[in-house]
Amino acid sequence: MSADLEVLLRGPKASGLARKALDAMENNCVWPTPLNFELWLHYVAAKESPVGKAIARMLEAGEPFTDSAAETLAAQHLPRVRLNGELLTAGNALSKELDTVSRAIESARESSEAYGEQLASANQSLDDTAPPAIKAMVETLANATQRVQRENKTLEDKLADTTAEVTRLREHLEMVRRDAMTDGLTNLANRKAFDEALERAVDAADVSGEPLTLAVLDIDHFKTFNDSWGHQTGDQVIRFVAGVLARAGGSPRTAARYGGEEFALILPGVDAVAAMAILEEIREEVGSRMLKRRSTQQDLGAVTVSVGLAERLAGEPQSSLIERADAALYASKRAGRNRTTNAEKRISAAA
Ligand code: GH3
Ligand code: MG
Ligand code: MG
Repeated sequence: MSADLEVLLRGPKASGLARKALDAMENNCVWPTPLNFELWLHYVAAKESPVGKAIARMLEAGEPFTDSAAETLAAQHLPRVRLNGELLTAGNALSKELDTVSRAIESARESSEAYGEQLASANQSLDDTAPPAIKAMVETLANATQRVQRENKTLEDKLADTTAEVTRLREHLEMVRRDAMTDGLTNLANRKAFDEALERAVDAADVSGEPLTLAVLDIDHFKTFNDSWGHQTGDQVIRFVAGVLARAGGSPRTAARYGGEEFALILPGVDAVAAMAILEEIREEVGSRMLKRRSTQQDLGAVTVSVGLAERLAGEPQSSLIERADAALYASKRAGRNRTTNAEKRISAAA
């Protein structure tokens, strides 16, 4: 949530705004999920904010406010996730800086130690015939050096504490960032992580010239499944499909939950022919499992998935790749579901 909005929401207008947001959501048939609520609060409280403008534009265009639209808006405009990344970068820079300072102090300590040793041996080699003034001077210098050494040691200890604290903070931030990139239900990459991974994969493919294939999957007739067995059992099925996908999705691949019961698999270095084999195996594995309700062991039958895949064309933008994979998925649905379709090899002009 943006800082301005947070101030507003702590003020006297808070409950009025919350009610206004809920009313606006109801009028536009938007589910009152926490994420939708946060986005619509921006809309009613700050129409000029990027989120406010984006929602106004969608309303004007009559676009439905789907889960994936909400996630895209949040990924683009809610500062939380971006901020985590920025803090992490700042944390990394700070630890590097502390490392440098710590090395400088360590080397100062080493040279003052060496200097101290030289003084001590000079002191010893001064025999009784040496003038007392010189002996006194060497002794004073040796004492001063010892003091500097003690101070350096204190500094070094303090710095070690600070460095440990920064490391702890950095680890914590890394955890928060991982959370922000992970889908809570399935532990797969979430929509934001998917968008970033696909952008990286497209850039890498441009450099390497290797193929890149995107697959999108959608559970068939899932609404009916939910209606028959309940949302919670539906969630278990989403987890089951995610598990099959995760096993096929180790690095450098990215398996993501793209939306409610929709998934995506980014396959760097894989062409459409090899991708077809991979996705057909996933599809068959999903469809061949007889599912049982966990609590009662009741038979639920099997679920199937439809798949669309698109191998990236030379220079094709990310949006067109997604659109072609989506179109192929819908072709699978139209052709009767439980199948994999390869996309048309024409860059989508609409994307
Ligand atoms: P199709 O074969 O055409 O994909 O039919 P469908 O019923 O799967 O498609 P549709 O997009 O109409 O419905 C998707 C349903 O998925 C709507 C909703 O009930 C369900 N759904 C979406 N997200 C979740 C979720 O997180 N958990 C559960 N249990 N169900 C979800
Ligand atoms: Mg769907
Ligand atoms: Mg579906």
